[in-house]
Amino acid sequence: MSVTLEQIVSLAKRRGFVFPGSEIYGGLAGTFDYGPHGVALKNNLKALWWKRFVEERDDMYGVDASLIMPARVWEASGHTETFNDPLVSDAKTGERYRLDHVLEGAGIDPAGMSLEEMWSALQEKGLKTLAGNAYEQPTTFNLLFPVTMGASKDSATLAYLRGETAQGMFVNFKNIIDAYHPKLPFGMGQIGKAFRNEIAPREFVFRLRELEQMEVEYFVSPESWKASFEEWLGIMRSYAEEIGIPLEHLHEKEIGDEDRAHYSERTIDFEYDFPTGTKELWGLAYRTDYDLSRHGEYSGTPLVYIDEEKKEKVVPHVIEPSLGIERTMLAVLAAAYDEDELGGETRIVLRLQPKVAPVKAMVSPLLKNKPELVEKAKEVRMLLKKVHPAIAWDDNGNIGKRYRRQDEIGTPFCITIDFDTLGETPDLKDTVTLRHRDTGEQERLSIEDVAEKIRLALA
Ligand code: ATP
Repeated sequence: MSVTLEQIVSLAKRRGFVFPGSEIYGGLAGTFDYGPHGVALKNNLKALWWKRFVEERDDMYGVDASLIMPARVWEASGHTETFNDPLVSDAKTGERYRLDHVLEGAGIDPAGMSLEEMWSALQEKGLKTLAGNAYEQPTTFNLLFPVTMGASKDSATLAYLRGETAQGMFVNFKNIIDAYHPKLPFGMGQIGKAFRNEIAPREFVFRLRELEQMEVEYFVSPESWKASFEEWLGIMRSYAEEIGIPLEHLHEKEIGDEDRAHYSERTIDFEYDFPTGTKELWGLAYRTDYDLSRHGEYSGTPLVYIDEEKKEKVVPHVIEPSLGIERTMLAVLAAAYDEDELGGETRIVLRLQPKVAPVKAMVSPLLKNKPELVEKAKEVRMLLKKVHPAIAWDDNGNIGKRYRRQDEIGTPFCITIDFDTLGETPDLKDTVTLRHRDTGEQERLSIEDVAEKIRLALA
């Protein structure tokens, strides 16, 4: 079904996935807080990414670099100069808008346009602000968050919260070379926060000021970049499938010369059909030797690789798969969200892949006032927790309500312990009811068989 952003926002808040940041103080635009189910979902997405992009490969090195980096890093990377968005303001109220977004909203594609061209297009259309006022002459706005470090004003150092995780890897290139002596091609992988002072954070977790990225910097010899680019393209597609992003809603868009970032010779954006339109989910970029050369130059520490066979120093080129966690989560939630009829009632169900579901199974005693049922159900839960720790407990309300609550958070299995489990019907002793989220179907299985089913679903 097609889901609206409002439906996702409402479910996310109601069921403890995502809350507006600092909500009791009126919120802070572009920030969100994550409740238990959101944390679990994000952790599952991250763990799978780490496994596929880093851990399972022999040529990848994991890092976790500092979030604060000196200004010089961002000068070298080009961010202080070019990490800008086009800004226009309301001439009367001063409210700020992103010029390219204003044009998009009016049905004009700003791709490839300069600031002046965008401004002319806005004027030609006679566009007005939301308050009905004129726009003021545009400027560019830098997205980096500056921080001043140090106890005294005079000796304070200007630093920036990182605008992307990538730079944390480039500055550690030499450390990895010196500590591990890897052979080309090899890469570094990192998961962590990044900060962007977006002019207009919007669309829930789609455009944030504090976000999290999963990035790889894969170092290759200049001749072999095309093969590596294709390889990472394939890995990104498989990851999408594994976490439940349907490929028919994922579009690979080749970015033209005029729209690529300053460092990139080729970029493919993975666009997803989000509830608010088809937009960038992830990016894959060929960054050439731009980053290592610039950091070599700006830091005075040459960032080179010594090719033992050719006996020469080379500056490796870089392929970068870059994935935002929150957009990934939003796509996964949008793809999984469904409403159907079950037992004559409408229900909301998240058809999440078991691997990413925050809760893998829920165990429930048929009646909560029968100590023998409760005790047996606790025993079953402890047993299933050996398969996976995310096994929930619910003994509130009737069984139907308990199932619905789990459907809403995407729990693939519910297990009910009844008097037959205790041996009331001798043949059924130590069997339980296993209920499947997607169909609502129930089957009677031994506790061992249930454990095996959960194990298989998570394999
Ligand atoms: P956009 O054009 O949408 O601003 P971008 O091209 O600047 O995105 P990149 O710099 O390529 O994005 O960042 C890599 C990934 O990080 C993106 O594909 C996206 O998943 C995520 N990302 C970037 N900016 C944001 C943001 N403000 N909020 C949430 N996720 C983001």
